[in-house]
Amino acid sequence: EAKSQGRNRCLLYSPDMARRSLDKLKLEQGLSQAIQRQELELFFQPIIALHSGQLCGVEALLRWHHGERGLMTPDKFIPIAEESDLIDRLGRWVMRTACQQGQHWLQAGFPLTRLAVNVSVRELRASDYIEQLQGILDETGFPPERLELEVTESIMQQVDQSLTLFSRLKQLGVMIAIDDFGTGFSSLSLLKSLPIDRIKIDRSFVQPLPHDRHSCELCRTILTLAHNLDLTVTAEGIEQEEQYHFLQQLGCEDGQGYLFSKPQPAANMTDQWDRRIHGSPVYP
Ligand code: C2E
Ligand code: MG
Ligand code: MG
Ligand code: MG
Repeated sequence: EAKSQGRNRCLLYSPDMARRSLDKLKLEQGLSQAIQRQELELFFQPIIALHSGQLCGVEALLRWHHGERGLMTPDKFIPIAEESDLIDRLGRWVMRTACQQGQHWLQAGFPLTRLAVNVSVRELRASDYIEQLQGILDETGFPPERLELEVTESIMQQVDQSLTLFSRLKQLGVMIAIDDFGTGFSSLSLLKSLPIDRIKIDRSFVQPLPHDRHSCELCRTILTLAHNLDLTVTAEGIEQEEQYHFLQQLGCEDGQGYLFSKPQPAANMTDQWDRRIHGSPVYP
């Protein structure tokens, strides 16, 4: 008994774990200063209409230029922000910056019809989330009907709350997409009862296409279901031409992925907008 406790204690306080929690603490401290130090940047990934290959929107993806670690992707720091209250400040920065950039593009004459912004479920729990979002829309002038909030499936666990929240978001005029669809544990019937515009098929189901029978069936089923419910579908993580063609044939409306473009700084999007204006596809 004592021996096994000793062993447990040894595990709990291993130097490795101590180092990891110190790392986390440092990241949390760094992140709390990242906004004012201007270390954050939004990258944008083109969203492509699969039937034409043309640009139909962009998704904003957060990056952190960390002094020592270089360019960091959100999986390394969003969870840390979510564990503290930092996510609220971070989320406001993301939303304001995305809408400002979107408004710049519109004023430059670029046909931005969909600006997708990821919102953490934690952020949505703030009691004044709707007011804050309204404030940012008013302040930046970005048209709400061109803004799409991407929320993961876990939001659907609390059905009543999400119904109220989503209804209020729809009143604001924004679109709602369920991100990483298929990875969570939401019941499919919930899709019908919530005012959702779109689902995004997680890239773990897209990448094995078109040779893995199971993934093919899954994508086919998701698309049939979505279309029966009048939802549109975006496929994430398209890297190969055959994945593109497979999804296109299934009637999947939109797609994103390295085949078309990686996420990139806002300035690099100008070329893509010019192509769109001239009716040229992003790919091929
Ligand atoms: P997500 O919203 O599902 O975004 C898609 C992720 O897949 C992005 O990773 C993107 O860079 C990556 N991706 C796109 N195409 C491909 C491809 O063809 N192959 C592969 N292997 N990957 C591809 P990223 O930028 O690292 O973001 C990861 C996640 O972090 C996002 O997943 C989103 O859940 C979260 N996130 C990103 N930005 C924000 C933000 O501003 N706020 C919040 N709350 N979460 C964010
Ligand atoms: Mg997303
Ligand atoms: Mg996703
Ligand atoms: Mg994802």
